[in-house]
Amino acid sequence: MLSKPFFGYAKPKFNYEQLSTQLPRPTAVATPATVTLLLPRAMGPKPSTLLQPGTRVKTGQLLKWDEAPGPGVVSSVTGTIQAIGPYMGDYGRKYTAVTIAAQTEDQWSDQFAKTAEPLNIKTLADFLTTAPGAPPLDKIAKAPKPIHTVVIYGGDTDLLVDTNLFVLKSQLPAIEKGIQALKEIAGIEKIILAVPGESVQNYDGHFEAEVRRVPAVYPFGQPLMIYYQLFGQILEQGQSFTRQGVVFMRAEAVATIGRAISEGRVPIEKMVAVMDKKGNKKLVSARIGTPISELLKVLHIVPNDRDRIIFGGPMTGKAVYATDQPVEPDTDAIVVQDGADIIASSDYPCINCGECIRVCPSRIAVNMLVRFLEAGQYQDGADLYDLYSCVECGLCSIICVSRIPILQYIKLAKYELARTAPAEEENNE
Ligand code: SF4
Ligand code: SF4
Repeated sequence: MLSKPFFGYAKPKFNYEQLSTQLPRPTAVATPATVTLLLPRAMGPKPSTLLQPGTRVKTGQLLKWDEAPGPGVVSSVTGTIQAIGPYMGDYGRKYTAVTIAAQTEDQWSDQFAKTAEPLNIKTLADFLTTAPGAPPLDKIAKAPKPIHTVVIYGGDTDLLVDTNLFVLKSQLPAIEKGIQALKEIAGIEKIILAVPGESVQNYDGHFEAEVRRVPAVYPFGQPLMIYYQLFGQILEQGQSFTRQGVVFMRAEAVATIGRAISEGRVPIEKMVAVMDKKGNKKLVSARIGTPISELLKVLHIVPNDRDRIIFGGPMTGKAVYATDQPVEPDTDAIVVQDGADIIASSDYPCINCGECIRVCPSRIAVNMLVRFLEAGQYQDGADLYDLYSCVECGLCSIICVSRIPILQYIKLAKYELARTAPAEEENNE
């Protein structure tokens, strides 16, 4: 019998989500018993002078390790610090996890309102970098050379996810205010709003931003792909968006900036699209730091042994290992995959079928590249087989008949090359 590959002989075509004019009503998740916040710095080496078990904190209060200049995280609840411990993020990023036992009533800190007079980019960066949408204001504040362009992606970067599109459509005044702040406070000369599909006419003329349409077809909404469409360039080895004077920002991040300024408080609730094992999707609103088990409980989703929970969308998301994992400022989606539906990666060798080359939007000889990456020869992969043209869409991984985790190899290679060139920043955001 003639067997046919899953996608046939044509390139698969996946479209991004497009919301109808009848926007969904997000389900609110109640304040949980505890939240876990990730302070973006390694724990120690000395004990914290400001954070200890038993310390009382207020909602909206900036929590820092000590008085020295450095990163902080805003508390999303009022309560008492219960535990502090080290936390390892992706690719060895180190955090300090601060677990707070929450009380049901909020007492709001006036720290932001007081510190925010007059507003400057440093204050905004201190308070808002860990707020919903993870506004990358620290990148603007600390960029080695001035940032001239902010690209707001109004759509979502992965399939089945509509978190940012929802925020774009439902929080227009906040986004308008955020754009104004980026121009006036951060001194950004040019703001581009990249929106998927035909919806561009809905926004043109409404913002102090240049509105650009990107095709609603995956992977045109990926930041590296948008960058290529807007500037006609790829990021070469050792380059980063910030080194090119460009910062990418979610629509939700811009709305967070706008709301913080209008309301004099740091927003604490994150929009998250949650997909159950049958593919049904719900939008929920939960405080940052809420354990994902609380979101699943509200939606009556029961994960079983061998099921997989993915942070992010189906193409580029990452698996997480426990349901007490907290909602993070950039958690746009959570996918719960039935154990029976998981197609595991394998260590089968490449059979040179060529499917990955046909599907690759960057026209990379993926079958050759992956051989070098599997052997740990990352620099050769970059020099000979165009590693840095990869926009990290994951299409090659899902189509590979040998189930080689190609995207993971690619991300690891870029990470390792950046790590061994310490003078450079991360290659993409
Ligand atoms: S190599 Fe794979 S992940 Fe990279 S652009 Fe091509 S298909 Fe996408
Ligand atoms: S890497 Fe996978 S999809 Fe690409 S040629 Fe090899 S077996 Fe085929």
